[in-house]
Amino acid sequence: MPEMDIAQGNTAFRWPDAPSEDKYSVCVHCGFCLEVCPTYQELGNENESPRGRVYLIKAAAEGRLPLDESVINPVFNCLDCRACETACPSGVQVGSLIEEARGQAFHAAPATGMTGALQNVFLREIFPHPSRLRTVAKLTRFYQKSGIRTVLKKSGALRILPKHLQEMEAILPDVRAKSALESLPNTVPSMGPVTRGKTAMFTGCVMDVLFSDINRATVRVMARNGFDVVTPKQQICCGALQIHAGDRDQARKMARQNIDTFLATSADAIVVNSAGCGAAMKEYADLFHDDAQYLPKARQFASKVRDISEWLVEVGYDAPRGRVEKTITYHDACHLRHAQQVQFQPRELLRSIPGLKMVDMPDSDRCCGSAGIYNLTHPDMANQLLERKMADIPDGIDAVVTGNPGCMMQIMVGMNRMAHGSGGVGSGGQGDATLRQTGARNDARNRVLHTVELLDLAYQKEANRS
Ligand code: SF4
Ligand code: SF4
Repeated sequence: MPEMDIAQGNTAFRWPDAPSEDKYSVCVHCGFCLEVCPTYQELGNENESPRGRVYLIKAAAEGRLPLDESVINPVFNCLDCRACETACPSGVQVGSLIEEARGQAFHAAPATGMTGALQNVFLREIFPHPSRLRTVAKLTRFYQKSGIRTVLKKSGALRILPKHLQEMEAILPDVRAKSALESLPNTVPSMGPVTRGKTAMFTGCVMDVLFSDINRATVRVMARNGFDVVTPKQQICCGALQIHAGDRDQARKMARQNIDTFLATSADAIVVNSAGCGAAMKEYADLFHDDAQYLPKARQFASKVRDISEWLVEVGYDAPRGRVEKTITYHDACHLRHAQQVQFQPRELLRSIPGLKMVDMPDSDRCCGSAGIYNLTHPDMANQLLERKMADIPDGIDAVVTGNPGCMMQIMVGMNRMAHGSGGVGSGGQGDATLRQTGARNDARNRVLHTVELLDLAYQKEANRS
């Protein structure tokens, strides 16, 4: 991407897609956002608050600060959780400003070290290429099933990994032989007596590698509610992780492919079960603000994107009659609650399930620390937030329910720690949550569920009764 003509102004933002004045100028410095910002709560530093970050971005845009560490670090320390947007009375789009500022930093100061390596390997070389992603999934499955994993664990070789990666590895769900994208038919017909319309299923990358059963459950639930469900095979990863990392050119390439693929289906809705993907796809138009060809298509695409809970409540769903005797609590994924303002719909679906008891979680919309790959690039802050989240989980519940694969993984790490007595990264805890075998992995997975899994289970129990 070429630099813009510096003569356009004395700004530190010299590349296209710079944060725009109409976004940062509406901040009135009221500070209502401070008390909901997880990084400000943890650090008590104005620069690590929404108001501080907006101020730094404005100062860089106006050439009063260079685009150096003083701006870049607070911008990348942000979780992009967007709790500040829900709290802000002026409608400041902090998430969009942060993502655009990261786009400038991506060109001015490319990431190095662990973050740079993760970006190069995963965000550019694997996630944008479905065939490579499938290869990684098959290698992961081979690692899990061949005995290599057991040997490495018993030998202690995995201890060379940083502690937070050991903990992620310990709870990694079993990868299925085939993803939902590979195994689902092009169209799953409606199961209802009347077909109500056609939906298109977005399967995602992390969701389909690690939780493909949730994608299959989502398709069953839509078919059960009277929709033909198409799963277009040319779809790819949504590009959310690339947007969060500032790699907007790569994200645009991926968005174009998804836009063309899904609009060709003529589906009534593009249904997503991953909060991060849904938020990014609803905001695809931001990537194409100066692209006359794709902007109208991106807007049309975005207007069709729905979270599965949002879609079911919007069009109406059959209340399940099968009983699910569990006590659960619900965690609001940031990109569902704050980026998409989807809050009551998952709760309504869960409350419709006979036998299911819901216990409220305090601060259920506080970020768990997952935040894309934040828990890998900022493990200390992510760990502090996970500890807070685990302390908020009510006693006596069977499972935490949420709507995002990243949150599921992060809370599974927390569940594994609770079950096995590890105090977590750098805590000096007595247990070791990194050495657990399949039973413990399954236990963590069974204790962290997606909303649609419970709805699907209730429908299956209903079918088995009749
Ligand atoms: S709440 Fe909004 S307007 Fe107030 S300081 Fe925060 S970002 Fe600025
Ligand atoms: S997005 Fe989250 S971490 Fe970032 S400034 Fe807003 S509240 Fe704070």
